[in-house]
Amino acid sequence: MKTLIYLLAIISFQMCTQVKQPENNLKMDNNSSKNNPYYSRTDRTKLTVSNAEWRKILSPDLYAVARQADTERPFTGKYNEFDELGDYYCAVCGNHLFRSDSKFSSTCGWPSFFEADKEGVAYNRDSSHGMERTEVVCKRCDSHLGHIFNDGPPPTGTRYCMNSVSLEFVGDSEKK
Ligand SMILES: [Zn+2]
Repeated sequence: MKTLIYLLAIISFQMCTQVKQPENNLKMDNNSSKNNPYYSRTDRTKLTVSNAEWRKILSPDLYAVARQADTERPFTGKYNEFDELGDYYCAVCGNHLFRSDSKFSSTCGWPSFFEADKEGVAYNRDSSHGMERTEVVCKRCDSHLGHIFNDGPPPTGTRYCMNSVSLEFVGDSEKK
């Protein structure tokens, strides 16, 4: 009888841990600021953090795009077809990058903006993949965000072609 109770206890304990595990993973995915001591939506001080350190903090998908200039597949990003009112922040460090009213529907397959927060982004020349392009990076943490092109709509004529994974959206209704 004792053995039976013991076995039941083990089984129910295992069931508990099995149920709890996905919950924890979900929480981590939904909050990139968790376990990230550099994340701030108000501090704009320049960060100098090594890639070895970022690799420990960021999810593999975000690390590949933000720190290794990878590009997410078109039409797969969560903000490609998304038009809620709010602000977009750097998913790596929390720096403010875009306001939703500068987002426009583009057919390129990535979220596109015609204007960025001047304090949010910086630019680098990018000659990789046999193309001459201008890379857009976060001004605070130097993470890769995407590229800028001159085929955007008025009033600027520019198109910030961004990776969804590099962005974190906070809706106006969430800010209270
Ligand atoms: Zn950043």
